[in-house]
Parts: sequence; structure tokens; C-alpha cells
Amino acid sequence: MSLPLLSFQNRHDKCHQESRCRSDPRYRPSRVIITDSVAVEMLRKFITQQDIYRHAEDYVLCKDTLYVESFNNACLQYVDKRIVFGTMNYTTRMGLAILDWNENVDREATSVYSRQTVANPRQRAGSKNLKAKTYRFVQEIQKCFLDTVRSRNGLPEPPRRHPAQEDDENIRDSDSGTDCSSDED
Ligand SMILES: [Zn+2]
Repeated sequence: MSLPLLSFQNRHDKCHQESRCRSDPRYRPSRVIITDSVAVEMLRKFITQQDIYRHAEDYVLCKDTLYVESFNNACLQYVDKRIVFGTMNYTTRMGLAILDWNENVDREATSVYSRQTVANPRQRAGSKNLKAKTYRFVQEIQKCFLDTVRSRNGLPEPPRRHPAQEDDENIRDSDSGTDCSSDED
């Protein structure tokens, strides 16, 4: 018998001990509890057809998606989804997003608050007021650049785009980006 199915029957003896249904004495099931054997069988069939059920080995290390979502959010500050960047511009921006995220992920909170809204009363997760972000990587980049200039007694050659690549992409590198649907050539 699968775990979700047991949950729908309000049986929690096989749930993880950290789960709310086992650790919170005030827990009340939020699901409709099913008792009808036909309904149980239909639900069993549905659950066991899911990818996560048929290929459980692909999911054993997953606990939550918090870090993936956090990283995606951090990326959006550097790589606007609505803009098509050229390869060099995109790579640079992704590099900055990675440096920023690595430096600021898991930073401490100054306080924690929780609020309950009428619109979504079940959502009661607390939120954190995080410490201000640091941007030490900016100084490190500047230092790295200046060290390069000093060691070469001048500015390094500007990076060059591969001509073939530019033809392929038909996209100019610019801050405003370009519309990728234009292919007039
Ligand atoms: Zn449970």
C-alpha cells in the first residue's frame, strides 16, 4: 500500500516521523478521507501510474526544491527572461548570477515573521527578513581586472566573438537585447 494512499485513509504509521501528521498532535487531515473500496482502488491506480512512483530511484535524493527556486530567482535579476541575449552577454550575466547566489545563499535572517491571510488561511509558513546582501564578488572582479591590466601594462584585448557563431545566432549583444524572430538576411 502506497504512502499517499494511506494518507487518504488517514493512516500515518508508515509516514516519516518528521511529517506533521506524526509530529504535530494537533494535526487534522486536510484531505477528504476515502473509505469506499472502489474509490481506493481508483486512487491507487492513479498514484502508481505517476512518474515519481514508477521511477522512484530518480527522486530519492530530493527533499525540496527550495535551492533550485532560489537560484532561478537570483538568475532573473541578471538575465531577464524577456530578453534574448547573445552567447557572450548571457554567459557573463549567468556568471554574475552564480557569484551573487553563491555569496548570498543561506545568509542569516535578522527576524522572522508569520502572517495569515484571509485569502489563503492554510498558508502559514513564516517568512524571514534576511540580512542585506553583500557584493564582495564585484570588488574581486575589479581587482582581478586591474591585476590583469597591471601585469600586461595595458588593457587586455577585448574578447572577440566567433564570426561563425554570430552568423548562426543572428543576435546582437546589447543591453536592450534583440528580437530573435527577426531573420531578414
Ligand atoms: Zn501521514
